[in-house]
Amino acid sequence: MAEVTFHFHDELNDFLPPRWRGAEFAYAYNGPQSVKHLIEAAGVPHPEVALIVANGQPVGFEHQPADGSGIAVYPEHSGVAIEDAPALRPPLPEPVAFLTDNHLGRLTRTLRLLGFDTAYGGDAADDMLAERAHDENRVLLTRDRGLLKRSLVVFGYCPRSTDPRQQLFAVLRRYRLLDRVEAWRRCLRCNGLLRPVDKAAVLDRLEPKTKLYYDEFQQCGRCGQVYWRGSHFGELERLVVEVQSRRMNDDSYHLQPIGFIRSPLTDRLAAPNQGYEGAPDAWLEVDNALAAGLEGIAVGDEIIVVT
Ligand SMILES: [Zn+2]
Repeated sequence: MAEVTFHFHDELNDFLPPRWRGAEFAYAYNGPQSVKHLIEAAGVPHPEVALIVANGQPVGFEHQPADGSGIAVYPEHSGVAIEDAPALRPPLPEPVAFLTDNHLGRLTRTLRLLGFDTAYGGDAADDMLAERAHDENRVLLTRDRGLLKRSLVVFGYCPRSTDPRQQLFAVLRRYRLLDRVEAWRRCLRCNGLLRPVDKAAVLDRLEPKTKLYYDEFQQCGRCGQVYWRGSHFGELERLVVEVQSRRMNDDSYHLQPIGFIRSPLTDRLAAPNQGYEGAPDAWLEVDNALAAGLEGIAVGDEIIVVT
């Protein structure tokens, strides 16, 4: 048997049994194994991992830890960044596109309402979902951790909540989409793009009151569904107001990657692009200015700047 000491950070702890959360713990296994395999065996799907540090060095998924290694694992937006860390996956597609499983119907609808390209997997089997997410370069959204662990899945996220509204804002925050909303862009029914259409062209499809009160219409280029300001508009307005309010109040949303890793396993700090110029690879004592930018460390702590 071999053994590593794991420390999973922030929301990655959601995947762990309570006794392992927020702390270092020993993990025994029959070696040798890749660190990706060990992370997933501990419970954390690989698409949720953004940075792995083994014995103080950033490593890729294929790294095989030596017996006795200390391994710290971080999610996206942990505040931790190390220059030259190996990329765990290609860059996120721009603009980001999603694929949802059949338990996330309401999340699918609200993502489309806010303009985000969201394909709905419906009743597709797990292997088909993984394959489609891979082939179409989509982020797979599912609460099925086994599905997220499939090796074909490159980009993926597990909404922790079962509440569709909480799921929506978790996804918007995770993918930095709070300022990317483009309302009235996508069909709620099929994800097709909407385009303006003359009232005369859709007149025969409208209810009498709609004909009377509305003059501007949009139509889905894929399925033909007609939209106007009366349909879904109240829901959309409420959502947009909430998006704006969260955008204003979410301090973390404004932070750029800056951070530190401080534990018995690793003592490294990376603070590139923040206007903070410390001596490279030197011990520093944390001052007020630095402590203000780094959650969890205090004035007087000693850290190492890695440039
Ligand atoms: Zn449509």
